[in-house]
Amino acid sequence: MLKLYNSLTRKLEEFQPTKKNQVGLYTCGPTVYNYQHIGNLRSSIFADLLFRTLNYNGLKVKWVMNITDIDDKTIKNTTIEYGPQANVANLRTFTDRYLNAFKEDIKKINLSIKSVKFIRVLDVVDEIKHFIKSLIKKGYAYKTADGVYFNIEKYQQNFGDYGKLVGENFLKGQKLGVRVRVDEYDKENLSDFALWKAKEEDDANIFWENAELGRGRPGWHIECSVINYIAFKSSTTDIHTGGVDLIFPHHTNEIAQTQPIYKPFVNYWLHGEHLLVAGEKMAKSKGNVYVLDDLIKKLNINPLAFRYLILTSHYRSKLNFTWESLQAAQNALNNLYTEISAYEKPKIGCAEYEQNFLEAINNDLDTPKALAVVWDLIRSDYPGHAKLQSLLKFDKVLGLKLRETWKASQKIPATLKKLLTAREQARAAKDFQKSDDLRHQIESQGFIIEDLSHGYRLKKKF
Ligand code: AMP
Ligand code: ZN
Repeated sequence: MLKLYNSLTRKLEEFQPTKKNQVGLYTCGPTVYNYQHIGNLRSSIFADLLFRTLNYNGLKVKWVMNITDIDDKTIKNTTIEYGPQANVANLRTFTDRYLNAFKEDIKKINLSIKSVKFIRVLDVVDEIKHFIKSLIKKGYAYKTADGVYFNIEKYQQNFGDYGKLVGENFLKGQKLGVRVRVDEYDKENLSDFALWKAKEEDDANIFWENAELGRGRPGWHIECSVINYIAFKSSTTDIHTGGVDLIFPHHTNEIAQTQPIYKPFVNYWLHGEHLLVAGEKMAKSKGNVYVLDDLIKKLNINPLAFRYLILTSHYRSKLNFTWESLQAAQNALNNLYTEISAYEKPKIGCAEYEQNFLEAINNDLDTPKALAVVWDLIRSDYPGHAKLQSLLKFDKVLGLKLRETWKASQKIPATLKKLLTAREQARAAKDFQKSDDLRHQIESQGFIIEDLSHGYRLKKKF
């Protein structure tokens, strides 16, 4: 039984998909105005772990991720690069760069990228216009000189749950009716938010036309309501993920915009905690960010060591990034690779460890516990082929590329084979000086040799 912590009810709940064995999973994706930092990538890894865990439980998952290529930041940066004549085609070219970089990064950290359906906002503007017009028609949105706004008061009268994701009494004592035009704002500035922003001079030539809405462009929040609506054919999304910073206003507003069209919008809301640096949230606005390439260049790390580091903490815990912890993750991953290199072909797994692993990940994706099961299994007395069988199974969730690594480690160069044979002969002849010399030569080729009562065990150093 898979249990997930639902932010909407603030409880650990047994997961039940709306359709039998079929899950609709939606992830709020990147804003492509710059490179994603490793904090953003933590959120992507969390979504990937969830996707893999659902699969591990035999569920078929349709996973959709939006790409925010229309918002205040992408437009501002496009106009900086292209000047006052910047247009929609320029916006696409500009955001392409960061979308491609994002895809490269998530490939490196082994996200199940082939299973993700990416939907760009630029490709659904017509559907967004249509959605906004439906909200106006139903009386939940109103036009002003500077665009179309969502009417929170009207929503509250009919649904009574605005802000439930933040807390049950979120609206108590709040003044309604004020308006906010910017995409990002905090709880203190709770306001009717923009669905459609009338064109301003700063937007250059980046705008869309519509007879009813006027010349303008979508606000930020509406995209996710519309993309869910399109992707899941206006039926309830099973699970929606994002970082905790999206609870308000983004996810709160997604719920409000969608429920007048269909309800419930989402059954399970899952939020990943932040990656911190020196105790502070990693954020471009704070100037404390690293990108994946910084890690690779500075420590020459395998990007999967970053994935390993993320697995060491639970997704609902804050994680403070340090170079030391990254180095420790790299060492642990290397040790894991070295251990499995000595294992024979996988055969018949270890049932008790498989049970423990399943219990860990099914308990709200407890990856620190799942990693502990991995190491307990490695230290156990089971034969190598049994350990490997179970570890390869676990790797369907962990995504540390154990199969590829093990396979590559089994290729023994001919020169090494000669040294191994010569060393066996020296040992048989009790020529320990020679056998020791040969051990050093073997080690200099990147392998470790351990003598057993019968024969030896060869491991590859990572
Ligand atoms: P953005 O590109 O800003 O739209 O963010 C993409 C994802 O990264 C969202 O789910 C954010 O909630 C998440 N995010 C932003 N900063 C952090 C951080 N420091 N740690 C973890 N996730 C983050
Ligand atoms: Zn979103």
